[in-house]
Amino acid sequence: MIKRTSEPFLGTTTDVNRAFPDVEAIDMMVAQDLYGYYCQQESQRVNSFTKSSLPSHVRCVNPRCQQGGLPTQNIVLFHEDGEYDFACNGHEGSPAGRRKGDPCDNRFKVMFCIDRGKK
Ligand SMILES: [Zn+2]
Repeated sequence: MIKRTSEPFLGTTTDVNRAFPDVEAIDMMVAQDLYGYYCQQESQRVNSFTKSSLPSHVRCVNPRCQQGGLPTQNIVLFHEDGEYDFACNGHEGSPAGRRKGDPCDNRFKVMFCIDRGKK
């Protein structure tokens, strides 16, 4: 039986300290499904992460969404601190077929700040 391992950070390492060598601390909040189309409870729509809990990916809560979600680590790497609004780039394809469906309507609101330690 093959055990699934956790997704590696940035394709190379699962060690968050190696993925972000210059970063002391990360404080990130991700809110999605802002109008409650897919989830009833706010706890399912809002997630907070720190450096040690930051996943490589936050799943899209749209149950029909495929290949969507938010690449949280890439956002930290390639964006300045602040507040952002990202559209999910997934689609609502049929699970059985290979047809690409409508684009996913979900959006992600992201707020984060990074403590880079040294000046
Ligand atoms: Zn989606």
